[in-house]
This record gives sequence, C-alpha cells and structure tokens, in this order.
Amino acid sequence: MDVVKGCCGTGMGSGGTEAVNGYEVARIEKAKNSCYLCEDYAERQKTRPVAVMCCEGACLRGEIARQAANILCYSLAKEKTARICLGGAFTKNTGQRNLVRNTTRLIALEGCFVNCSSRMMSGVIEGLLPEVIVVDQLYDFNRELFGIEEMPPEQIQAHARNVAQQIAANL
Ligand code: SF4
Repeated sequence: MDVVKGCCGTGMGSGGTEAVNGYEVARIEKAKNSCYLCEDYAERQKTRPVAVMCCEGACLRGEIARQAANILCYSLAKEKTARICLGGAFTKNTGQRNLVRNTTRLIALEGCFVNCSSRMMSGVIEGLLPEVIVVDQLYDFNRELFGIEEMPPEQIQAHARNVAQQIAANL
C-alpha cells in the first residue's frame, strides 16, 4: 500500500512526497521481512473488542499518550483491548493492520491535535473511522513544555495513568 493521507497543501513536498488536493501522497517500501512474534500477537488479539492505537510521538505529549495506551491495554482493560503497533500496522498489510481494519471499536490516542495515528491509518485503510482522543486535552500541564526531559518521569506516569483511567471508565 503506498497512499498516505497528510495535511499539506498542494505542490511537491521536500521528502519525496507529493501533495495533491489536501492529501500528501507517499510511497512506502514493502516490508521484506516479517516478525512471527508480531503476527502471533496479532492472531491472539483479534477477538478483543477494542483496538487501541497511539501516535507514539517522541515529544512529551506523545510520550504521555504512549504510556496511557500501555496502561490501558496492559493493566486497566487488558481483557478488552488490543494494543496496536502503529509502525507495523501502517507499513505492512498483515496482522497488525488487520486488527485495525477488523476491530469492532477503534480508539486512537493522539498526543496532540496533529492526530498522526488516525491520519496515518486512514491513509492505508479506506473509510477508517477511529474514535480520536486528543490526550493532551485530558490533563493539566504547562502547555509551553515540549520535550520529555522537561517533565519529571513520575509526573509523566501520573498524567498517563490519569488519562488511561478516564478512557477505561468509558470502555
Ligand atoms: S499527534 Fe502530536 S504528539 Fe503525536 S506524533 Fe503527531 S505531532 Fe507528535
């Protein structure tokens, strides 16, 4: 699959992409390798009623979203949820993408309003309609902060747990 939705205007992008009519068109090299551990995981998860993907961003907002997704899927609601590997689902049309495609309910935890995970996956699965949760709207913090190193790890974990609890309450 080689078509990816983006948020650019028109004209050529700087990284080998082309922006057309509000979409950024990219080519993804097909994966040459497959991880049987990942495929086995996807097979085991496919009966879970809720799939949870996350933007996995490297900034503070992405990190809190990532930790919240992990707490939700591996602690608070582990029988109900399947934690999606976003990179695997986006770049390979195999088990992880099928979890996203076939789930009864799809939740996208986005670190911020850029909404990367839902835009990425909408680019490779036609008509995808995830429930988008903009995680940085669910906790109070200094909105001038950007990097993970700008907040103590304990505070990051506390925000992530708080977010995960809010989402779990509505599952
Ligand atoms: S949604 Fe925001 S925090 Fe997450 S990857 Fe995109 S830009 Fe980064």
